[in-house]
Amino acid sequence: MAAVVISGAVITKDDGRSGMYKEKCESCGYVSGTTKNFSSGGSGNSVMSSSFVCHKCKNRQDVKIKH
Ligand SMILES: [Zn+2]
Repeated sequence: MAAVVISGAVITKDDGRSGMYKEKCESCGYVSGTTKNFSSGGSGNSVMSSSFVCHKCKNRQDVKIKH
């Protein structure tokens, strides 16, 4: 089951078991230069939740990836 971004991320790798993403600010469009791991081996109804503070505009952005 491929992972789908709900908000706050850009997926850079997803093999159905593990994936990588970059944090993305939905407010100003900033994309982080560092990649983070997430587990993508879910049922398709699981949601990975995280959050970060945007380096550029200081927006507190929720990260949600459905997998
Ligand atoms: Zn921002």
